[in-house]
Amino acid sequence: MEGLIFGSLEELPSVVEKLRPHRVVILTNTTLERLWLGKVMELVGGEAIVIPDGEEHKRLETAVNVWNMLVDMGFTRRSLLVGLGGGVVTDLAGFIASTYMRGTMLGLVPTTLLAQVDAAIGGKTGVNFRGKNMIGTFYLPDFVLIAHETLSTLPGEEVLNGLGEVAKYAVLKGKIYGMVRKFPGMTPELVRECALFKAKVVEEDFMEAGKRRILNLGHTTAHAIEKLSDYRIKHGLAVAMGLMVAAKVGEHLYGFDAGKVEELLNAFGLPTRHPFEAGEIVREMRLDKKAWRGRLVFVVPEDIGKVHVEEVGEEVVKRALEETA
Ligand code: NAD
Ligand code: MG
Repeated sequence: MEGLIFGSLEELPSVVEKLRPHRVVILTNTTLERLWLGKVMELVGGEAIVIPDGEEHKRLETAVNVWNMLVDMGFTRRSLLVGLGGGVVTDLAGFIASTYMRGTMLGLVPTTLLAQVDAAIGGKTGVNFRGKNMIGTFYLPDFVLIAHETLSTLPGEEVLNGLGEVAKYAVLKGKIYGMVRKFPGMTPELVRECALFKAKVVEEDFMEAGKRRILNLGHTTAHAIEKLSDYRIKHGLAVAMGLMVAAKVGEHLYGFDAGKVEELLNAFGLPTRHPFEAGEIVREMRLDKKAWRGRLVFVVPEDIGKVHVEEVGEEVVKRALEETA
């Protein structure tokens, strides 16, 4: 992906300068306003639009408010919208920039681990509407600046949330697995490797017709667990539980050593067991919007760095779910 930059906020002025925008507007939320907006505005100037914090604000009404403010400010296609925040802000900023006047310049400065390795990479934007991310676009930003220092203020539970996706990448790519085995923590090198890996997979399959689906490793189960918990179990933790289930499926189908995934999750302090019954999870899986005609499609590891995307029989899935309860 073009425009993926690793460094610090200090790179912002030169990155923005290159785009020669007529004006710059920073979209952020109340939490980031307190922590990092001052620094960012000091570096690039411009104006700020601050939305309330929370997933419940990732919706059309918020986009409408922001569109209104942009019109009032005289924002044009030659202006730059910069999304400063976690995945909620970067998804919204992308959606707003992609639709306003058929597309404006867009920069993202993701500030959660999850957004740095996942949400801000790959050009999917969206808002929640009758379901998660039901309205959205594919729109690549002009730049994504991954500024490691912004993670210094991230609460522990948000770090853990991001590590769920990092653990997924470790199963998908041997190099990342090796890094995590050496040091199971959030280093700039690890963030960089994960972000680059996702960018590369997405580049090969922008519209999600094939290879991008490997990024759903652990997610068939994770989505069901999140739903069943009424979203009280955070995405990254549900992904960890889902990885363990996928590992067990891989063990049954290909002789994969599920212990490798268990060790990885333990090293991160992520859960390896889910709190639901196999039957109710399977029922929920079949209802998922991504489950084609209710089929149980899994990304199944055969080894670290080698996965298959395939339909798995219910008996195998149930067995894996029972072993990880
Ligand atoms: P989030 O944006 O809600 O951020 C989590 C919390 O951390 C928020 O309270 C936020 O204000 C706070 N925060 C952010 N940065 C901080 C910092 N540096 N210091 C202190 N607090 C900080 O959640 P998230 O986990 O970053 O992202 C989840 C969203 O991302 C979901 O809406 C999900 O659908 C979306 N997502 C999108 C994609 C995609 O491909 N577009 C992929 C994965 C997830
Ligand atoms: Mg995910």
